Amino acid sequence: GASLAESDPDLARAIGEELARQQDQIELIASENIVSAAVLEAQGSVLTNKYAEGYPGRRYYGGCEFVDVAEQLAIDRAKALFDCAFVNVQPHSGAQANQAVFMALLQPGDTILGMSLDAGGHLTHGAAANQSGKWFNAIQYGVRRDNALIDFDQVEALAREHKPKLIIAGGSAYPRTIDFARFRKIADEVGAYFMVDMAHFAGLVAGGVYPSPLPHAHVVTTTTHKTLRGPRGGMILSNDADLGKKINSAVFPGLQGGPLMHVIAAKAVAFGEALRPEFKTYAQAVVDNARALAARLIEGGVDIVSGGTDSHVVLVDLRPKNLTGKATEGSLERAGMTCNKNGVPFDPQKPMVTSGVRLGSPAATTRGFGVAEFTLVGELISEVLDGLAASNSGDNTAVEAQVKERVQALCRRFPIYPNL
Ligand code: PLP
Repeated sequence: GASLAESDPDLARAIGEELARQQDQIELIASENIVSAAVLEAQGSVLTNKYAEGYPGRRYYGGCEFVDVAEQLAIDRAKALFDCAFVNVQPHSGAQANQAVFMALLQPGDTILGMSLDAGGHLTHGAAANQSGKWFNAIQYGVRRDNALIDFDQVEALAREHKPKLIIAGGSAYPRTIDFARFRKIADEVGAYFMVDMAHFAGLVAGGVYPSPLPHAHVVTTTTHKTLRGPRGGMILSNDADLGKKINSAVFPGLQGGPLMHVIAAKAVAFGEALRPEFKTYAQAVVDNARALAARLIEGGVDIVSGGTDSHVVLVDLRPKNLTGKATEGSLERAGMTCNKNGVPFDPQKPMVTSGVRLGSPAATTRGFGVAEFTLVGELISEVLDGLAASNSGDNTAVEAQVKERVQALCRRFPIYPNL
């Protein structure tokens, strides 16, 4: 058949331009990464044609013998990677993985206790706008004002007062390690299930540079596309076989229909990559690089929430420079560096403005940046911030242009997808 460029030039052009954007700019969005050519190939494979409702060996469709191999490889590799007894690799996304756990363990109206969005939690942990906040009685904990760490006194008090059925740890903008054992103790005291959403740091757990939640949580959810560097998707893990059965039924037929077998195949490829020794080196570099970036930014005069990072996340508090997250995100993007505005704990600005930006090291580390390059990135960001702070009108065009040239020179030294 015709190539995409021949059959659909408009779409092919959009994909080509997105490829060039990824090649020429520095990706600092903490939840993104750059998958291998092998992951792309599996995801772009003929497995997209196949219906496979059910689980390996127990399908509702014929012709599943080869997709069964793909799914079983994904399951077995994930079990080895995270040292656990049960895995479901079918959730289409992180949000659906969380939803499936709620469906398995909760009834509408039950009480859940999760970290608030403002403090770095995720929408699906009980935010008012999300189904988790609408269909459950969602109680939210936060971080301490003095050190931006999880406020365990508050978690304990809320758990004792509200007796949640489920306590959730993990988030989207929390840079530090989490004391999973302490959470489990609280959960046990009030008779709650304890779930960890490790979406952000799953790759760091796989690489052995961040504590594993598996020994502590009843159930663990994750995305597969962040630090874990696989295709966009979700996964649920547990060491409890009985819970595993409930979770399987909740994912299918409870919540989803046919699994995305091409994505599951790509998950298998990514987990295979994460089992190799090079992935440990990668994970350590992700953390080293984030720390180097944070240190250089502090030198440049901003605050880093919690004073630094134990992970891939650097949450920048721009208030010392009197800048908003919104203006900073725009200026950095024009300078060739992509990130997202993000509230800092107790942020006085509205969510669409914010006083912070969230930065992350996973994607640029994948393309080969080390501590020297991340220190340079910190310097380039500081120049953009200073230019923006100095301009009364918010016009930072000159600085953005000169930084963009240096960004592009750096990107050329660390090319991605040279054969696409
Ligand atoms: N959980 C956490 C902690 C996340 O950060 C995210 C992604 O933003 C999700 C769940 C949702 O994942 P997805 O975007 O794949 O639905």
